Amino acid sequence: MIESGEMQMSFRYFEIKPYLCSIIDEYRHLAEEKGIELKLNYVPDELYVLGDKERLKQVFTNLIHNAIKYTEQGRVEIIVEEEKKFVNIIIKDTGIGIPESDLDRIFERFYRVEKDRSRDRGGSGLGLSIVKHILELHNSTIKVESKIGKGSKFYFDLPT
Ligand code: ATP
Ligand code: MG
Repeated sequence: MIESGEMQMSFRYFEIKPYLCSIIDEYRHLAEEKGIELKLNYVPDELYVLGDKERLKQVFTNLIHNAIKYTEQGRVEIIVEEEKKFVNIIIKDTGIGIPESDLDRIFERFYRVEKDRSRDRGGSGLGLSIVKHILELHNSTIKVESKIGKGSKFYFDLPT
């Protein structure tokens, strides 16, 4: 359904800071349980982005949930960098990382890195394919950098 091309989109300008604060609040508990710091870096007030709020919420929740799920210690940081006509959004963790050989496949439907390490963490391998699809509908691209044992960084742009 999600990739049927029939997804109804509703683009609006909305303020990014309160939006991110409330999404992150929903994950405080999970992060605290694991002893991981969950942090939103400085975001200017009255910074507006253009997008579908509800769909983008799926993007943020999937990325933040992954970051917490695949991190055993340290922190998950959400960073908003303001550029001239867009913002760059970064979700960065100090988790288990992703092997280089899997990096170009993790956005495929049902793809999960090494079944063994993912099995006990649950999940279907759909999250990132949904993220990719929703961002494509925003003319944006999800990108990733990762090092095994060091952590991962997922990032994308949104128009302002
Ligand atoms: P679902 O999101 O459907 O519950 P999932 O988390 O396994 O399941 P994806 O979100 O699509 O699926 O992620 C695909 C795979 O990429 C994961 O199984 C995991 O191995 C790897 N991965 C995703 N995010 C991270 C991350 N932040 N750190 C390390 N590995 C990650
Ligand atoms: Mg996931």
